[in-house]
Amino acid sequence: MKTFHILTLFPKMFEGPFSESMIKRALTNGLIDIKIYNLRDWGLGKHKQVDDTPYGGGAGMVMRFDVLSNAISNIQLTISKLPKSGVRSLKTILLTPQGEKLDQKKVRSFSSSKFTDFILICGHYEGFDERIRDLVDEELSIGDYVLTGGEIPAMVLVDSISRLIPGVLGKEESHLSETFENNLLEYPHYTRPEKFNGRKVPEILLFGDHKKIEEWRKKEAETRTEKKRPDLLS
Ligand code: SAM
Repeated sequence: MKTFHILTLFPKMFEGPFSESMIKRALTNGLIDIKIYNLRDWGLGKHKQVDDTPYGGGAGMVMRFDVLSNAISNIQLTISKLPKSGVRSLKTILLTPQGEKLDQKKVRSFSSSKFTDFILICGHYEGFDERIRDLVDEELSIGDYVLTGGEIPAMVLVDSISRLIPGVLGKEESHLSETFENNLLEYPHYTRPEKFNGRKVPEILLFGDHKKIEEWRKKEAETRTEKKRPDLLS
């Protein structure tokens, strides 16, 4: 089982996304576990301060190294004390737009990896004190744009890794032929009605000739990849 330990200043943000659909089912069935830690619990002084102004001046607040470092050490200690079924193996990931860009290959490698526990660190404000980079194993970005915080990237990571864990997707949903597997976009899907507003389902799908349907889908996947994402083929 994989356990995601999310360090955040905004724990409530996770309530919705993790209490619906496949992730909820994966949690209920014990296929994954998610633990949310409030960084504020390690905050300093009466106001539980977690950030400060940047040395050298400039805009925005920076998350403090001492606070983050204490939080990470404590979470690591907590993980080391969790009941063991086999060896636990931990990866600590910093979410940052400056990190390696996440793609399906990376997601797949995490999902099938030996790692049982992932600590995901969500930044906020201007970001974090640079020294945090020495405490993490990897830095990951979910794309070339800047979000207000690392919470949505953490959700993206949990969702994309979890759905590849055997048993998380029902029998009816498969990831084997879907987009990005074999560097292809997935073939087009159709369902009832067969005709609507002058638009028809391709005839080949209507006669149950599985060999022909498979060939057609393969061709369609290649054609649309060439058209929409030629970079995947190169
Ligand atoms: N000042 C930082 C910079 O220019 O690199 C950006 C800080 S951003 C406003 C605040 C936090 O959101 C980051 O520390 C990071 O945790 C998260 N974040 C924003 N965009 C992200 C992305 N594309 N991928 C992963 N995390 C992101």
